Amino acid sequence: RGDSAVADHTVDSVCPYCGVGCQLTYHVKDDSILFVEGRNGPSNQNRLCVKGRFGFDYPRHPSRLTRPLIRKSGVPKRLDPAFDPAQPLTHFREASWEEALDLASQGLVDLKTAHGPDALAGFGSAKCSNEEAWLFQKLVRTGFGSNHVDHCTRLCHASSVAALMECIGSGAVTASFMQVLESDVVILTGCNPAVNHPVAATYFKQAARNGTKLIIIDPRGQGLSAYAHMSVRFSPGADVSLFNAMLNVIVTEELFDQAYIDAHTEGFAALKAHVVDMTPDAMAPACGVDPDTIREVARLYARAERAMIFWGMGISQHTHGTDNARCLISLALACGQTGRSGTGLHPLRGQNNVQGASDAGLIPMVLPDYQPVGDDQIRSAFEELWNTPLEARPGLTVVEIMDAIHAGQIKGMYIQGENPAMSDPDLDHARAALASLEHLVVQDLFVTETAQYADVILPASAWSEKEGTVTNTNRQVQLGRAAVPLPGEARPDWWIIQEIARRFGLDWDYTHPREVFAEMKQGMPSLDNITWERLEREKSVTYPCPAEDAPGADVVFSDAFPRAGGKAKFAPTRPLPPDEPVDGDYPTVLTTGRQLEHWHTGSMTRRSQVLDDLEPEAVASVSPAELVRLGVSPGEPITITTRRGAITLKVRVDPLMAEGMVFVPFCYVEAAANLLTNPALDPYGKIPEFKYAACRLSPAAIA
Ligand code: SF4
Repeated sequence: RGDSAVADHTVDSVCPYCGVGCQLTYHVKDDSILFVEGRNGPSNQNRLCVKGRFGFDYPRHPSRLTRPLIRKSGVPKRLDPAFDPAQPLTHFREASWEEALDLASQGLVDLKTAHGPDALAGFGSAKCSNEEAWLFQKLVRTGFGSNHVDHCTRLCHASSVAALMECIGSGAVTASFMQVLESDVVILTGCNPAVNHPVAATYFKQAARNGTKLIIIDPRGQGLSAYAHMSVRFSPGADVSLFNAMLNVIVTEELFDQAYIDAHTEGFAALKAHVVDMTPDAMAPACGVDPDTIREVARLYARAERAMIFWGMGISQHTHGTDNARCLISLALACGQTGRSGTGLHPLRGQNNVQGASDAGLIPMVLPDYQPVGDDQIRSAFEELWNTPLEARPGLTVVEIMDAIHAGQIKGMYIQGENPAMSDPDLDHARAALASLEHLVVQDLFVTETAQYADVILPASAWSEKEGTVTNTNRQVQLGRAAVPLPGEARPDWWIIQEIARRFGLDWDYTHPREVFAEMKQGMPSLDNITWERLEREKSVTYPCPAEDAPGADVVFSDAFPRAGGKAKFAPTRPLPPDEPVDGDYPTVLTTGRQLEHWHTGSMTRRSQVLDDLEPEAVASVSPAELVRLGVSPGEPITITTRRGAITLKVRVDPLMAEGMVFVPFCYVEAAANLLTNPALDPYGKIPEFKYAACRLSPAAIA
């Protein structure tokens, strides 16, 4: 802390990594961030995890883009995994902003003129601000002329949102994670907060110490298991079987809350009939869980005075991800566990602004605030706001866009801050799509794996260099502030999007993100009573907010749900197998995800010195028994093979890993996990099955 003596000023902002939305303070000297401290935000109370505390230096990495780049003519579009950003660029040349923006826009305009609006698509970013998300989707809708706009929500919680919208009429959480301190029982399923939402995990630990019963339901063990009242390990992919068996117990033992069901729900009779045969004894073989354990969990949850359910991508990233979330919602509705302090449904959001980017309309089937594009009345309201006719057909989603490129429909793309060359499933397919685009514009901080396929690369702004609002997993809208200047000729993302829009003939004239926020309020009722000035004054404002001088609602839907008639709906589900079950040739389940130290595709954290020093290379985690079966020692290489490809990387032993499973983080280009993953989609949320692919493990030769 000796550094504090030399900082010349401090700037309050928000962590740029996960959806917890920890508030922090940058300590700055001579336009450089010296260190970061947590401050007393509503979701972190001064706490930060290792990413928030040490992952602030990536914007000053030597490979940071500081000038626009244009691909040299004749250079083929392909990914070089050994690409060294420290070496002089051979495939691109530097350009002025004027030249780069003209070329970037003209390529897209020409494709639209030649082939129509359906030839273009855009990926916005959950790492950017709400204002940037609003502008990006507005550009696609009013400039490109289609709804082919999506972002990484499609790869994380799209199925959760589909189920929540269907059953309770809202895609956001019904209560903040701080409410666990009021809960008697908390179910955590398909999530690993100690790794992926570390500061939220501290609230779960605190609750457990105070007597809350934590029940962790997951195929894998995890750090929080040490605090759990029960840890239920079940067979990968058997979520629906397990949750339906719990519902069966609640129905047959009449543990449901009839008064709540009568007042607030519809469809319970059908659910009762649906689960009648799905007894714990009948479902136990599929789940791999003892029937009495299923009964005990169901009773604990149903009998609790106040209980919450949290879930993550272990629930959502399945071809039956929407069904998984429907089951969790049914559990809460059947037991009356929403609408009161200490109760609720909470899908833990991944990226810092995936909630806000979704709210702002970076979704192909809905306008901002989840208002359907096909609704004539809603669409005409936005047409009036934006003074432009809008397309009524929903657009394509992330993976569908890659398929549409292969099919020859999508010919040009604008990608802001996303890295599909690392994040999409079945990367060979996704990368071939990117390579075949006739025109690709990438806006980012670095020459990411995706940017290697670009025709034009536009140098953008890091979170610590700009102003804007973000919305965390708790629906808390918070203000990020610029702590340091943009390097070289890098520009704020909102400015770049506006320059592209102007070249599409749109008369945009924003001079600051606060003007964009003011426009957002005209199309997003969720922002009622939240102003830029209020965000500057207050630490954080939660939506929905009833008045400018009142706090927002931490717990929602106490009286009614935002559905016709005000009632939530039960959606019965049937167990379905994974798209690609294990078999004799591919006997092991591959599951992918994040590490504590690395964030998503690693474009930021692998350029952050402390974080990359802590986890510098790709590893695959297996159980001790699997290690013995493979006949290798920790640190030796193994090869993982699926029907789509193979990667070789070092093996790590993890006593919490389930037997018959291997876990690989997806941030390492040198052993890219998504070369292996299955692109099969959930039919409702259109999310790929990242959490289950059949694979084969084998020892590899030591290089
Ligand atoms: Fe940042 Fe999330 Fe860590 Fe908080 S918990 S410091 S928001 S990465």
